[in-house]
Amino acid sequence: MFGKRITLFRLLGFEVRIDLSWVVIAVLITWSLALRLFPGYYKGLSKTTYWWMGIAGALGLFVSIIFHELCHSLVARRYGLPMKGITLFIFGGVAEMDEEPPSAKAEFMMAAAGPLSSIVLSSACYGIFILGKESGWPNPIAGVIGYLTYINGILAVFNLLPAFPLDGGRMLRSVLWGWKRNLRWATRVASQIGLGFGMVLIILGILQVFLGNFIGGIWWFMIGIFLQNAARSSYQQVLTRQAFEGKKVRRFMKSDVVTVSSSISIAQLVEDYIYKHHFKMYPVVDRGRLVGCVSLQQVKEVPQEEWNQRTVREIMRQCSPENTIGPEVDAMKALSIISRTRNSRLMVVEGDRLVGIVSLKDMLNLLSLKMDLEGYKG
Ligand SMILES: [Zn+2]
Repeated sequence: MFGKRITLFRLLGFEVRIDLSWVVIAVLITWSLALRLFPGYYKGLSKTTYWWMGIAGALGLFVSIIFHELCHSLVARRYGLPMKGITLFIFGGVAEMDEEPPSAKAEFMMAAAGPLSSIVLSSACYGIFILGKESGWPNPIAGVIGYLTYINGILAVFNLLPAFPLDGGRMLRSVLWGWKRNLRWATRVASQIGLGFGMVLIILGILQVFLGNFIGGIWWFMIGIFLQNAARSSYQQVLTRQAFEGKKVRRFMKSDVVTVSSSISIAQLVEDYIYKHHFKMYPVVDRGRLVGCVSLQQVKEVPQEEWNQRTVREIMRQCSPENTIGPEVDAMKALSIISRTRNSRLMVVEGDRLVGIVSLKDMLNLLSLKMDLEGYKG
């Protein structure tokens, strides 16, 4: 979902990042405010003024979204949930969390904090707008504040749709979860409603395009697709968690591991291992001891004409916590390292001995078998 992200600053302990897709949206918003919306409502101002209003409006929206996500994050932290930070991307913002909320009540409070904060912001802006009107503030300022009143209202209403994983959908899931005490069932129902809403948006988007509202239609269509994907992957996340949480890495590892000896040449490593097994990283084992790791990256750093003379020992690195894990560690931890580092295989290490390897592919295969056999439907 995320491309290149830029970290902007830290706010109350949370990292605030923007995805490059948000920059595109910010430019589009500024542009449409400066050329369409503000000139339509406030006639007779200069072009430069409209642009300043556009920039102020987009900045205000930026602050509003961060405030919304910050409120989610603060409530989450109160309930002891570790938060990764806030990221703004093409469809708004997300407060990223690693785990599911600890209880139905925690989830309800966390989810409700977002729309509530947007309602508060919208009301505050409306208050300022009225105050400004009475004290005769200039039109450009009134215009921007009026826009922020409106856009925060939209943020609140859209997020309150009971379409999981939007805030409203999370609130719905928490109510279902509290009622039946079954997270998987609650997530399934809520995400099916999310899929339905996504479908409605997609159909409305297509209708809009046919009715001549091309940009608006494409936009609705894309939000619909996004919502459907998010609903599907959130449900899968819950299934994954239930399949792996509380189980040890040892259960999912393979113990027949392809290892290399440190004395072979780089040419041999390439011919007999990399071209044969197609892995990107190999554990280096000498006399039963794990002595290092060698990866495609290190091979690439050596010019090809030196491959025959130089050995693996010269280029191997120490294995890092990024590609190793203990056999008794929770399997969810393995998945979270894999997703964070994008190393699809982790070596399972006990002391200085390599006891196995755990791979994303094996874990996903197992998950799909489990879903098939155990009918993970309800
Ligand atoms: Zn929210």
